[in-house]
This record gives sequence, structure tokens and C-alpha cells, in this order.
Amino acid sequence: MIILLKPEIDQPGEILRSIISMAQRYDGVWAKPYSYSGRDCGITEVHLIGSTRTVPTQPFAALPGVLRVLRVSAKYRLIGRHGGAEPLGFEYNGVSFGRETLNVFAGLCAVDTREHVARTMAALAENGVVTTRMGAYKPRTSPYDFQGLGAECLPYVFELAGKHGIRVIAIEATHARQIDELRSALENAGNPTGVMLQVGTRNAQNFELLKAIGQQRDFPVLFKRGMGITLEESLNACEYVASEGNPRIVFCFRGVRTHLGDPHRNLLDFGLVPVVLRQTRLAVCIDPSHSVGRMDLAPDGLPDIFHAVGQGLIAGASMVLVDFHPEPKVALCDGPQALTLDQLPRLVRYAATARAAYESLVAAHNGAGADTRLQKESHMEQADAAGRSRLPFGRARSSVSITGSRAAAP
Ligand code: PEP
Ligand code: MN
Repeated sequence: MIILLKPEIDQPGEILRSIISMAQRYDGVWAKPYSYSGRDCGITEVHLIGSTRTVPTQPFAALPGVLRVLRVSAKYRLIGRHGGAEPLGFEYNGVSFGRETLNVFAGLCAVDTREHVARTMAALAENGVVTTRMGAYKPRTSPYDFQGLGAECLPYVFELAGKHGIRVIAIEATHARQIDELRSALENAGNPTGVMLQVGTRNAQNFELLKAIGQQRDFPVLFKRGMGITLEESLNACEYVASEGNPRIVFCFRGVRTHLGDPHRNLLDFGLVPVVLRQTRLAVCIDPSHSVGRMDLAPDGLPDIFHAVGQGLIAGASMVLVDFHPEPKVALCDGPQALTLDQLPRLVRYAATARAAYESLVAAHNGAGADTRLQKESHMEQADAAGRSRLPFGRARSSVSITGSRAAAP
């Protein structure tokens, strides 16, 4: 059972004590409070754990300060929506992550040279993008393939991120010890940026890694769906991370392994975006690069990768993870699917346009007078007189992760 407190309560001490003492009246039941920092306000809730089946909701619902009480299904206790729990957006290093803020993580699949990192980050800064991906530890199918530069590249990756105003870098951890390596490298560099820990598709059920990633609270998590397991199994993996103490998770679709999607590398599974939005409290990311896996252009001139971005965003995803490389031909990992830096403004504009289309479609579907959160966000943005972002997504305050105001038309 989850007892949600009213969001306006900023000193929840007294109400928490009342809930805990009421819970003590029931044998085998204990109360565990959780606080999450939402984008606009904090969320506090108390989870009643144990034999709660016969515990009535009404006495808890009647306590002052309680917004509502939800009975949780056995599945996804922490990440589950349970028909009414708030989505778990969060703010990290000045960037908002959630269902209402579009974030584009564009960058190198694998760091290879300092120069390529510098050119990529300069292009991101030029296009107002403050989030990137930079693979340092690469899980590869063959032991003879490039395994990533590991900790060796972190000092210059972090230094250059600071120089170009990059606030968050998605970096995959393939082993728990790399979490400490990332933390120390960040500290040694003077914390010029932040890290979002990626769980790769091959580690989606590496339960010890998931536990280690859940036990640390420094870094939020970008969890990539297992390529050959059910959605339920992947969501349970996220529950592992949350149950160890870290609820700052974004769920990422990256295609599933089957040759039914040929000639694409994996079969696009972005049609399941609304399922995750409905069943869980997580924001959803899509990775079109590892799904499509190649740079082919459609007859309309757009790369298949752009079309995949559109399919994910139009289904409600709010984050995109996409491979770029200044010289794809010399990339040591996944060059054939990397977009070039001159395509970055187009990708940014394309993502913004697709997001805006999604917001308009939702608003239109819910009726002209519907007061949905998404509509309010769009109106806020259009009313922004500062003109720092004229695009109908994201926000022009410090948490904007991309602005794209200099971006060309797709
Ligand atoms: C990656 O994003 O670099 C990666 C290895 O992706 P995945 O785990 O989805 O294959
Ligand atoms: Mn890759």
C-alpha cells in the first residue's frame, strides 16, 4: 500500500509519525517513507510493507496531509504506477528528466580520441545540447574487438564536457567497480559535469550489477531493455535498481533481437512506449541507433534513424539516445550507425518537431479545453518572452537540455 502525501507539505515530520504509528497497529506491517525530488516539487510517500492485504485504506486516507492511498500490485512495487502514483521525474546536475522534458543525448558510442570528443562536444554546444553519450567501457561480442578506453579517457572527457557546458554524460558501466572509477574521475576533474549510468542490454539481468547501481545514489540510471527478454523482465530489472535505493531511472527501448526486423539491426519496439508509461512511473528514452543500426536514407531523404526517432517520440518517449561521430569511417565501434556532426542540427530540429507534434496530438485528443499537464507546458513555452527557446518543448530555464534554436529545418 502506498500513502501519498499532499505535494504542498514541505515539513512532513508530523504526518509521517501519525502514519507510522497507525501502521504499528497492524501485525506484520511496517512503514517505509520515501522522498523523491520532482521537477516542480518534492514527492513524499509512505509504503506499507508486509501483510497489508487486510489493512484498510480508509483510516490512512482520512489523516490530514494524505492525498490518496493506493493498493499496490505485487509487480513493480516502487516503479509501478498502481493506477495513480506520480511519475518519477527528477533533476540532476541542473537538467530535468521526466515525461514532460525532452532530452537528447547525442554523442560517441565509444570514445576513441580526445579530438573526436572535443569536436563532438563543440558541435553539441553549438546546437544548445547539454547532454551527451560517451562510451568508455564497451561490452563487445568478440573479445578481440575494441573494448573501450576505460578509465584512461575519463579525465579528458570530463574536462571537455566542462569546457563546452555539457551537464550530463550517459556512460555504460559493465562492472560495479567502474562506478567508483567514474566517481573518482569526476572528483579529480572537479565535478565539471554529471554522469548518467547506462545499463546495457546485455546486462539487463545482471542482478549483482543492478544491485550495485541501485545502491549508489550519486548517479541516475539509464536502463536499456534486454534485447531478448520480455518487457516484464526488463521492468523487474528496473525494480531491482529502485529496490536498492535509487529510483532515478529512465527506461530505454533499443530494439529487440530477431531477424524479423532485417535489414535493421534490431526490431523497433517503440510501440511499447505507452505500455511503460502506463504501467510504471518512469520516463522513457528511445535509442534509434542501436535499433536501426545503419545509415540508410528513406526515399524522402531522411535517414531511417530519424524516422525511428519520430516513432518513439510520437508514442510519448521524452528522451533520445543517439550515436554521432565526427568521422564514422574511423570509429572503433558502431561507425555504420553513427550520424555525422553536420546532421546534428537537423536531428535536434527533427526531435523538437516530433515532440511538439506529440504534444499537439495529445492536446487535440483530450479536447480543446482539457487542462492536461502537457498542454500547460506547451503554453508556458510559447509564452516565453525571452525567446531563448522558441520550440514548443522543454523549457527556457536552466534545466533545458536542448534548445535547438539555431537548428535548421529537418
Ligand atoms: C550502447 O548504447 O553503446 C550499447 C552498447 O547499447 P546496447 O546495450 O543497447 O546494445
Ligand atoms: Mn554501440
